Parts: sequence; structure tokens; C-alpha cells
Amino acid sequence: MNEPYDVIVVGARCAGSPFAMLMARKGYRVLVVDRARFPSDTISTHVLHPLGASALSRWGLLDRLTTSGCPPIHTYAFDFGPFTLSGTPGTDDAPVAYCPRRTVLDKLLVDAAREAGAELREDFIVDEVVMEGERAVGITGRTKGGTATVERATIIVGADGRHSLVAGAVGPEEYNQRPPLLAPYYSYWSGLPMDGRFETYIRPHRGFAAAPTHDDLTIIVGGWPYTEFETNKRNVEGHFMEMLALAPEFAKRIAAAKRETPFGGSPVPNFVRKPYGPGWVLVGDAGYNKDPITAQGICDAFRDAEHCTTALDAVLSGRQRFDSAMGEYQRDRDEHALPMYEFTCQLATLEPPPPQMQQLFGAIHGNQRDMDDFVRMNAGTISPAEFFSPANVGRIMSQCR
Ligand SMILES: Cc1cc2nc3c(=O)[nH]c(=O)nc-3n(C[C@H](O)[C@H](O)[C@H](O)COP(=O)(O)OP(=O)(O)OC[C@H]3O[C@@H](n4cnc5c(N)ncnc54)[C@H](O)[C@@H]3O)c2cc1C
Repeated sequence: MNEPYDVIVVGARCAGSPFAMLMARKGYRVLVVDRARFPSDTISTHVLHPLGASALSRWGLLDRLTTSGCPPIHTYAFDFGPFTLSGTPGTDDAPVAYCPRRTVLDKLLVDAAREAGAELREDFIVDEVVMEGERAVGITGRTKGGTATVERATIIVGADGRHSLVAGAVGPEEYNQRPPLLAPYYSYWSGLPMDGRFETYIRPHRGFAAAPTHDDLTIIVGGWPYTEFETNKRNVEGHFMEMLALAPEFAKRIAAAKRETPFGGSPVPNFVRKPYGPGWVLVGDAGYNKDPITAQGICDAFRDAEHCTTALDAVLSGRQRFDSAMGEYQRDRDEHALPMYEFTCQLATLEPPPPQMQQLFGAIHGNQRDMDDFVRMNAGTISPAEFFSPANVGRIMSQCR
């Protein structure tokens, strides 16, 4: 408690800035550092499901997004070829999704953290986590071109993404690992109006999606199994365009559109980590990373920021012991995240749905309540555990007998 900061947060994007903001709003002394200077882009598409928008609303930040010119998305449509399941992704309280450019979203979050009283250092590279025995007690780092400094805090927070330096230093237990499953690529297009729709096209061993974003642009993201990564990477454009041609109606719309940016993207590993230990915690991708196919990363980072703040506040205010509060944080995170993690890893194989699943999709098709639920499950509004529960599947199937 005698350290100059209560928390030092490494990483200032979707996990780090909201966490820094929420801790600072509670009166804690927060230093948040990032090697980037904001606004800053990053390799990521950026569908923000309704529960993510709901978090922004709780934090008083949603207006900043809506007034930035980011179009709302009221409908998700999943085109399987023979039929499409389409519905509304949100709830009465949070009806719509968004797809904000990371240059806009991350800047908005960084500004909110600073306004809440967190000390922000941009262009600041963390080189090492300072350990005293088993305990993390600080960081060493430097501004670009500057001299090295040491900063100390009661808790060091790794919000530094899937290649987390903090996790690398403290070596957390890792579980449920899967190798990269998908090779995703994306680019931005003009002249491709989406009318508030997020469209996903699923074909054997291929999948792609399109969503409207800032500046009247549409982002298209798609890919193939990771087993094709090496052979296809020499001609991403050719393979990408062949993939879009698998959906002829969409391909017609693409013919009238213009690609405005080169392709970006990156396959990612899948893992879950124990998110706490002596003097350190992990939030966002640093603690739990998964394939982007279900676009859950930003919502999960927001959720971690809120729940980790609650847990650490209980610790730092003396109401609960560290292991107890952080153990609850981990259990709650895993209970929420693991069903979606399994669903995501399954989807990312791009294997055709097994026959039972195809029957289920057939039964859902045309029934608006169940299509809404299917869409909400993909958005993370309801859990895959609930949607695929025997009771729910039995109810859906009984309707077509
Ligand atoms: C191709 C792709 C598409 C995706 N699409 C979506 C999507 O549509 N929707 C969605 O919700 N999620 C998507 N994701 C996932 C999403 O990008 C992440 O889940 C999200 O960015 C996690 O936020 P974070 O704050 O935990 O980490 P990051 O966004 O990775 O931020 C980590 C920050 O830490 C900083 N940092 C790291 N190391 C250091 C250091 N040593 N010193 C100083 N700073 C450091 C970095 O500069 C960075 O700013 C996608 C990911 C990929 C790869």
C-alpha cells in the first residue's frame, strides 16, 4: 500500500483503458502505459456486439461512439447457402451492435481513462516486470528514445494482449490450449452499403462476414483453415475473391464496390490463463485469447475490466483477501467464457456443421424467435450453453414434428 501507484496497467486498449478508468473512478492511483500513441490502429476487425455497447453506455461513453459517425447494426444474418438465419442481436436495453474503427474506439477509451484521473504514458515500452522473489512489484520501461525508468505499484496489470510481456514474466498456468485454427484476413471497401446489417457467409472450409463502419466504409473479413495458411499466403487477394464468389449475390454487390485498403490479418492461438498471482493480474487477451471468428474479444475485455475492478477494489479496500477475490474473478470469467470458447474453436475449424446441427438450423429457419436466439447466441447476448441446452434444442426440434 506504500507504493507510489495502486496499479500499473500495461496496455491501454479495450482491456487496459476501461480497467484504468474504472479503478481511477474509484479513487485508486493508476498508471497506464502503452507503446502506442493514440489514435492508433491495431490488427483486429472490430464488431462490437450489443453487450459491448451496453458496457459503453454504463460507463457514460456510448454517446461518444454514436456521435463519431459509427452506424448502428440492427440485424445479423447468417447465410449457409441453402438458407439464411437472420435476427436481432441485442436486448431491449441494448438493441444494436456497432463496428467502430479501433482508431476511434481505443482513443475514446484512452481519453476516458485519463479524464477519470489515470496517469497515461503513451509511446512507453515496458521492457521487464520487476520481481521480488515470486512477487511482481513494478515495471521497467522507457519512452521511445528515452532513458529507462522503474515504476512500482501494489498490483501490476497485464492488459498487454495475446503476446503479453506480463504473462511471459510471471508464467501463469495455461489451460484449454488450441493451436491457431483459422487464417483470417480483412480489408475496407467503399460502395458496399450494408443498411444496418452484419452479414456472415458460411461455406465448406470458407467463411466471411461484412459489417458497416466509419467513413461509409464496410469491413469484409474472411478466411480459410489454418492448414491452408502457408500455401495461400502468397496470393491472399486471389483466394479471398474466390471465397466471396461462393456467395453469388454478395459477389454481385462486390463487383460494384471498391477495395480501399490492403489486406490485413493474423492467425491467433487459443488459450486460457490463470489471471492472477502474487502482485499481478491479467485482463483481456493477455488472460484469455480465442479465434476472432465470433468477434468476442472486445466484449470480453470490457467484461474483464469491470469484474477485475470489482475484485481488486475488494482487495485494496481490505474487504477480501487477494486469492479469494481473484479466484472468484477467474471462476466467473471461465463460467461465462468457456462455452463460447468451445463454440468459437469449433466454428473456427470451418468444418461443415454436423448432421444434427444442420437439422437444428433447419428447424430454426423461418421461426423468428429462434432465429433471434441463434443470432443472440452468436453475439454473446445469450450463452451457447443455454442455447444448445438439451431443453432448448428439444423445444426447437419439437416444433417441426
Ligand atoms: C484478425 C482479428 C480480428 C478480430 N476481430 C474482432 C472483432 O471483430 N470483434 C472483437 O470483439 N474482437 C476482435 N478481435 C479480438 C480483439 O482484437 C482483441 O480481443 C482485443 O483487442 C483485446 O484487447 P486487449 O486490450 O486485451 O489487447 P490489445 O488490443 O492487443 O492491446 C494490448 C496493448 O498492449 C500494448 N503493449 C503490449 N506489450 C507492451 C509493452 N511491452 N509495452 C507497452 N505496451 C505494450 C500494445 O501496444 C497494445 O496497445 C480480433 C482479433 C484479430 C487478430
